[in-house]
Amino acid sequence: MFIYFSTIRLQNIYFIQKHQYSVQKYALIKYWQSKNIITNQEVLSAFKKVKRENFILKRYLKHAYEDIPLPIGFNATISQPTTVMIMTQALEVKKGNKILEIGTGSGYQAALLSILTGEKGKVYTTELIKELTDFAKQNLKEYKNIEVINIDGSAGYKKYAQYDRILFTVAIPKIENILLQQLKDPGVYLAPVGDEYSQELIKVTKKDFQIIKQSLGYFQFVPLKGEYGFK
Ligand code: SAH
Repeated sequence: MFIYFSTIRLQNIYFIQKHQYSVQKYALIKYWQSKNIITNQEVLSAFKKVKRENFILKRYLKHAYEDIPLPIGFNATISQPTTVMIMTQALEVKKGNKILEIGTGSGYQAALLSILTGEKGKVYTTELIKELTDFAKQNLKEYKNIEVINIDGSAGYKKYAQYDRILFTVAIPKIENILLQQLKDPGVYLAPVGDEYSQELIKVTKKDFQIIKQSLGYFQFVPLKGEYGFK
């Protein structure tokens, strides 16, 4: 009898939590649409598909769809949903794109990009910390077009260059030429550039041998380590 009841209870809790996630997800989508923050339907649809709850630590499950960053250990965070979505939209991913991300963390950003580029595309994502690389690999098991690489990605990743899209999901001190050389023409590069406390999100568009830089506002990311990182 006891087992019977507790099974029902567990199922109910699971159902309530899943329901809560979809209500909160819907609220975020409404908020982005009403403020014209995210207008790209494909980007919104990718957000609907990816389960953020699978990329966070269990103790934060209740907060999976609050618009806040969450710690994932090793001084890293999964960025707040609005920030991730602004970056995802700004990257203008097309089906079949080859993408390089620096700062895998939980793998959540990579998962969104994987859906947007589709099965003909590829996401290479680099992470400095071994434990986080393993965490992301575990979280990304069902995503077949992503390769998680445990290296210092501050100089990019020449092995598969050039890329249609490059993004740093970690704060960088300056835009390095070595990275722009790994960007195709046409191509889009995105990075939060500044000091360790605040950064301006810069979008670089390469087209017809020209480089155009645009600011997308101020954000706060964890600092880049490694060769071209903060000392
Ligand atoms: N995109 C992630 C969040 C990134 S947090 C997500 O969706 O969850 C920033 C990450 O960059 C951290 O995990 C940190 O360990 C990593 N990092 C810092 N310096 C790095 C470097 N030089 N190369 C690769 N990753 C780096």
